[in-house]
Amino acid sequence: MTEPHLEEDRSSKFSPSKLSVYQNCPKRYQYRYVDKISRRRKTPETVVGVAVHSAFEELYALVTGGKVPGLPELQEIYERELAAEWDESVVEKDARFVKDDWKKVGRDCVELYYNAHHPFSADRTVAIEKRVGFPITVDGHEYRIEGFVDRLALAPDGAFEIVDYKTAKSLPNQEHADEDWQLALYELAVRREWPDTKEVRLKWHYVRHGKTLVSVRDEAARAKLLADVTALISTIKHDHEFATKPSTLCDWCEYRDLCPLFADAVRVAALPPEERARDGGVKLVARYAEIEDRRKRLKDDLKVIEAEREKVEDELAALAEKEKLAVIAGERASASVTVKVETHLPTKTGEPDKHVELEREVRKTGLWEDVAKLDGHALLEGLRTHRWTGELLGAAESLVERFGRPETKRTVRLKRKVEEDD
Ligand code: SF4
Repeated sequence: MTEPHLEEDRSSKFSPSKLSVYQNCPKRYQYRYVDKISRRRKTPETVVGVAVHSAFEELYALVTGGKVPGLPELQEIYERELAAEWDESVVEKDARFVKDDWKKVGRDCVELYYNAHHPFSADRTVAIEKRVGFPITVDGHEYRIEGFVDRLALAPDGAFEIVDYKTAKSLPNQEHADEDWQLALYELAVRREWPDTKEVRLKWHYVRHGKTLVSVRDEAARAKLLADVTALISTIKHDHEFATKPSTLCDWCEYRDLCPLFADAVRVAALPPEERARDGGVKLVARYAEIEDRRKRLKDDLKVIEAEREKVEDELAALAEKEKLAVIAGERASASVTVKVETHLPTKTGEPDKHVELEREVRKTGLWEDVAKLDGHALLEGLRTHRWTGELLGAAESLVERFGRPETKRTVRLKRKVEEDD
């Protein structure tokens, strides 16, 4: 028997965006960072974003040098950067918006920001596009968190401001900003670089909306962030499977042609219609769909039969009770009727709160050892969902390795396509 191929992450550095790729979909993470399949795609949004960032980078380089450029000069910088970035590799998904429309989106961002912040003297720029990072110890190994701060500034009250420009169409709410951990990780790096730092403000300029969001993290939030990121890196390092995690992000995923969820759809969509109809997989799915339809019809019939059966059982029980009988005789069969009262205890799924309460009470007595049983499914599920880290994770892994044996289990589910006129 050949050994299964185990994937492994060998990274020593993690950026916030790399970590969020894993959180969004481990399989996409595997393609990008483990298998290192480069598929960086330019879209109008990313190209405009890069050009606006470059324009602001140059703006603050000029401002720190003592020269405040006029808006036309800044627009010129933006357009120059956009022209350099926009090449034939840009994938335009929406034919209603052409290059000039996108150019205007970026121009408007630049203008909104310029007018709101001119003459750019509200703070002092410490660094632009600054690489920040810090070491992090996970399961006894040392890694680094690294990233780039768009702009690091010092406000007049002495607070550091970690500034990020966002050109996205969506404007998140304050709650989202308070939960974001990209800039919060950069804050940890800044505090290590300048240990006497008192206050740090995380600032996002949503330049498409002219809106700035600010978030401040206290010590407890910073400690929790560090613990969460440590656990996440531990999970990545123990992951040998990199499961798919389908979501709306799949529509934009650059690995659809490799992903086991979409690769065949990509292949079939590229086939000419006559080849598609002859394709082995396509024919099998059609057969399977037909069987599923038959199965559903039978199940519906069975439901009707079960309801009828229950009704007749009720009538037989009523007759048995009335006539004080245990067996009702028929011509070719007889029906025995037994009635007994059974004790029902709350179940995990039926009455979860009561079930928890019952378990708590049983644990207090000496009965637990006798009535509790191992939940192997929970053990496997805990490993699959990365429930544990550190010692517990090691214990769970070694138990499963010792007692588990591979068993092939097959599941096939039919997912119907939504027809256009549905
Ligand atoms: S298509 Fe979706 S599930 Fe597949 S790798 Fe990409 S994000 Fe993950």
